[in-house]
Amino acid sequence: MHINMKSKEFTCKKHLHFNKEEFVSPCRGRCKKCGLKKIHGYSNPDHVTNPFGYLFLIPELCIECSIENKLCAWCIYKKRL
Ligand SMILES: [Zn+2]
Ligand SMILES: [Zn+2]
Repeated sequence: MHINMKSKEFTCKKHLHFNKEEFVSPCRGRCKKCGLKKIHGYSNPDHVTNPFGYLFLIPELCIECSIENKLCAWCIYKKRL
């Protein structure tokens, strides 16, 4: 199974609709957990034309952190201290 498909198993019910989006922009976002800048931008169904360019959807967590922690990549991630 492709790693990106695997992370989608952990998408929560609230964010299930994101599972149909495809990534269109490589590595734009920073992972809120591991801090690495390797999150893909996803196509945005709510995108409206604007002067700043395309508004990509950026998940909170990278695919690896999502799988490792069995967390939805789209839920707001709060670092536990
Ligand atoms: Zn990460
Ligand atoms: Zn979620």
